[in-house]
This record gives sequence, C-alpha cells and structure tokens, in this order.
Amino acid sequence: MFDEMKKQLIEYGIKLLRSNQVSGTAGNLSIKLSPNLFAITPSGMPYESLEPSDIPVLDLDGNTVDGNRKPSIEFRLHLEIYRNFPDVNAIVHAHPIYCGVLSILRLPLPAVNETMLMYTNFVPVSDYANCGTEELAKNVVSAMKESKAVIMANHGLVCAGSSLKQAFDMCETIERCAMMYVLALSTGRTAYTIDEQCAREAMEFLKKHYGQRS
Ligand SMILES: [Zn+2]
Repeated sequence: MFDEMKKQLIEYGIKLLRSNQVSGTAGNLSIKLSPNLFAITPSGMPYESLEPSDIPVLDLDGNTVDGNRKPSIEFRLHLEIYRNFPDVNAIVHAHPIYCGVLSILRLPLPAVNETMLMYTNFVPVSDYANCGTEELAKNVVSAMKESKAVIMANHGLVCAGSSLKQAFDMCETIERCAMMYVLALSTGRTAYTIDEQCAREAMEFLKKHYGQRS
C-alpha cells in the first residue's frame, strides 16, 4: 500500500543524512497519503537500509493502520502538525548544526537574505519540552502559527511543506541562513537584517515572479 510515497520518504531520508542535517538514525520525515493518513519513518532504523515495508502508516488519531514497525518517537509532533494545518502535506525534522546553535541560544532567525524569504521571514524558537512528548508537539504547533519552519529549543529544526521536496528544501535553506547568521554574530559586529516591511514586499514579489512560469 502506498509504495511510491514510501519510496519517496526513504529517498528524502537518505538525502537528509547525506546533506549532514542528521547523523545516524536521528531525525524523521513524514508524508500525507490522504486527508486522514500519513506515512512516517520508523524509530531508530538506518535510512539507507529502509524498505517500503518498514514504513508505518498512521491515521490522524495516532493508530498504526499499516506496517509492523514502530513509528518514529516524534510521531506526535507530525500528528499534531497535520491536525492543525490541513495545507501541510509533508514534514521534515532534522538536527542541523547551526539551527542547533540558535536553539541553544534560544535565538530566532530573522530575515537575513532573500533566499530565506522564499519560505518565511522569521523562524521562531518553540518552548523547550522533552522529545517524543505531547507538550513538544503542542509547543511546535503554537510556534508554527508564525512560520512553517520552527527551531525547537535545545533540539533542532522542523519544516512543514506542501510537498516533501518543499519541506526538505526549506530545511536546507533555513540551515544555510542560520549558518550565515551565526557566523555574522560571531564577528561581534552589528548583524543587519532585512526590515519587516521590505521582507513582506519581497515575499509577495517572489511568490508572484520567482521561477519559470507560463
Ligand atoms: Zn529530533
């Protein structure tokens, strides 16, 4: 059932590992299969060894409806995001280094450049809660009302997108911007950011004009 979607999930899990956004079996990804079902990576299994049969399918009540593997311990986080944001079709959760630095400093990422504005003009830091808990899921959902990319305090990054590709690209872009911001701050000089009005205008402009359109 849903083998093509499960294969896509595995492919992006391997990409996440190879792009250094996670190490070992850390991080997790999910993709919506229907309004009430999603596939999620299993708990503690190496991405490179995954087969479609290793990918559990859950409903929005948190029941496993397909597969024998235990879902990622962060399945509540994915569940809560899907329940609250029906426009989200895929979620990527990673532990990239520079977002990790901001998560320890509890510093949100402001609008640092226009690449970031393709996705968001601000990445908030959600309140701390232990991994796998309902509280963590609720804290992230609350921060996600401001932005589909959220830095999780003393933990990592989560990006929710309209597709797996979009959620993955968002993670890569936000991490790259976090890296620039941390390096800029580390010089001890003033780190300038794009002002709010300009950022909003640029976001509108990019939404309408970026890329190839017919
Ligand atoms: Zn994590």
